[in-house]
Amino acid sequence: PARRCRPSPGGGRAPRGPQPAAPPGGAGGADAAGSAGGYDGKCVFCRIARREEPGTALLSCEYEDLVCFRDIKPDAPHHYLVVPVEHMENCKTLKTEHIPIVKRMMEVGKAVLQKNNFSDLDDIRMGFHWPPFCSIAHLHLHVLAPASQLGFLSRLLYRINSYWFITVSVMQMCFAVGFRLQAENAVFF
Ligand SMILES: [Zn+2]
Ligand SMILES: [Zn+2]
Repeated sequence: PARRCRPSPGGGRAPRGPQPAAPPGGAGGADAAGSAGGYDGKCVFCRIARREEPGTALLSCEYEDLVCFRDIKPDAPHHYLVVPVEHMENCKTLKTEHIPIVKRMMEVGKAVLQKNNFSDLDDIRMGFHWPPFCSIAHLHLHVLAPASQLGFLSRLLYRINSYWFITVSVMQMCFAVGFRLQAENAVFF
């Protein structure tokens, strides 16, 4: 089963490559709606965070409320996901009070790169996929490196502050000026 976060109609097996026309009401939204925080047994990231997915090894992480693991289909030599243990919807619904956890997710992302001997923090890409351009509704930070080695399709998928990928710094700017994050805003930065 496809576990990667990818635009994928119906959330099933995701073919490689971007599919920006993911239908609304696909994989993500329905699951997230039923769980106000906590645990959603239908959510693969909730199961991974509770070590219920033996195929996915958790990497060391300095915070108990976050987990970190390798993307099952990496798009770069280093491709990690940082995920809150508690089910939290995607970045579109984040509010100012989530800034601390987003910052800690970034810290974990940088730390895991360094632990894996990648130290050029200018050559990394970190960010969030914008719903519905993501098949998994549980908040997760993509950590990719080296950014300079992303292939053409990956560059597209993780293009900085496109409609479908938003970096943490833009998210913080939006918070700082009190924007509720909207896809229309994201594209202007
Ligand atoms: Zn979840
Ligand atoms: Zn994603």
